[in-house]
Amino acid sequence: MKTKKNIWLGFHNKSRSERIKILKENSFLNDEFSENLLNNVTLPCDIAEKISENNIGTLALPLGIAPNFLINGEKYTVPMVIEEPSVIAACSYAAKMISSSGGFYAEILNRKMTGQVILYNIENIEKAFENVLNYKEIILNTANEAYPSIVKRGGGAEDIRAEIFYDDNTSFLSVYLTVDVKEAMGANIINSMLEGIKSLLEKITGGICLMTILSNYADKSLVTSSCEIDIKFLSNDINVAVNIAKKIELASKFAKIDIYRAATHNKGIFNGIDAVVIAVGNDWRAIEAGGHAYAASSGKYKGLTTWTFDEKNLKLKGMLTLPMPIASVGGSIGLNPSVKAAFNILKNPDAKTLACIIVSVGLAQNLAALKALVTKGIQKGHMKLQAKSLALSVGAIGSEVEILAQKLTEAKHINLENAKKLLKEIRKKLRKIE
Ligand code: NDP
Repeated sequence: MKTKKNIWLGFHNKSRSERIKILKENSFLNDEFSENLLNNVTLPCDIAEKISENNIGTLALPLGIAPNFLINGEKYTVPMVIEEPSVIAACSYAAKMISSSGGFYAEILNRKMTGQVILYNIENIEKAFENVLNYKEIILNTANEAYPSIVKRGGGAEDIRAEIFYDDNTSFLSVYLTVDVKEAMGANIINSMLEGIKSLLEKITGGICLMTILSNYADKSLVTSSCEIDIKFLSNDINVAVNIAKKIELASKFAKIDIYRAATHNKGIFNGIDAVVIAVGNDWRAIEAGGHAYAASSGKYKGLTTWTFDEKNLKLKGMLTLPMPIASVGGSIGLNPSVKAAFNILKNPDAKTLACIIVSVGLAQNLAALKALVTKGIQKGHMKLQAKSLALSVGAIGSEVEILAQKLTEAKHINLENAKKLLKEIRKKLRKIE
């Protein structure tokens, strides 16, 4: 029987156009988007100047892919936009390890967004609180009247709750509106609804509205991705593999007790998450804000992943839960040709599937970082790729880049001064050969 060729074998050594050709031939890209990528068609300036203000151009970032993701039984190749070396390589490596062990199991715990109307200067705050709950149906109807199209799409405002806050001499009443925003991220949808109920709430509570705004603490849009890795993928030597698995468990424990480590642990997770969120044209500041707020939801900022070693079955189990209010429509998603190509590569997922993919990327990225940190450290692999960036930054061109990067990794110090010196020597030698 003929076995199917592994298209990712040696993919990183191919040229850019060969990689695009492989994606096209294997139905990851249609004709239009493969042509766009070949010609590096990005956001046109006439669109850019309509999206944000005082426009003077666009800024390009590298777009790559991390293959080998098996999530809920489906295979994915994930587009990532990132300027940092090693992130995509590490993510692909960990995804392959996890996918070879059965893949990721990702679950949407819920998918609703929350907005708040904050009121103050209320004479009887307890009575105001009660009134909000008594008028719940009227408030919900008013919110939905402010954005009827989302109701037509099967979504809309669903629930109301309120909370009283005291700060010195001031008391606040925060009214929270829960909305099903369907395929959108929902900021504008919710903000329109909140403005729609503002005067009604002022009337009901007798207070003054301080502000109306969506909350980026999207605790009603939680997604969990988990995996179980056969530890033979950590090392060929079973004793070494057991040691690595134990250390990864310890590293995950430490990230929950020390804020210095927790921040870096989570930064590593967001290396992967942000890269995909940017590739799919979503608001990565919103995803970051929600993720870090969730990391501090217990009152203490903690590492977001949990890794445990099942010594009996020789499995390393990982889990990541995060708010992931990602959108498949809205904002500037449909306006950027590179974003449309990214959706094409992902086979045009809906918002829930996209959220599962992104949280799984975060879990893979964290595994790769932890494995490197508890074994050889990240510098060895990192500096090899960093050397290329350094070579480019001192002006190396063409074949000089590879030669200089190699010399830099062999050198005692990888720094700018050394890079300039080595480049001069390389050029001298190349001139002699010519
Ligand atoms: P949009 O304002 O673009 O609203 C979503 C759009 O998608 C609507 O026009 C809607 O059409 C359309 N749509 C088509 N199909 C669907 C579907 N199946 N489900 C839902 N909507 C659909 O985007 P959002 O309201 O999602 O807001 C996101 C934007 O807001 C981002 O650009 C973000 O940066 C920004 N923002 C973020 C804030 C924050 O995070 N704190 C604050 C303010 C803004 P129709 O109108 O016909 O229903």
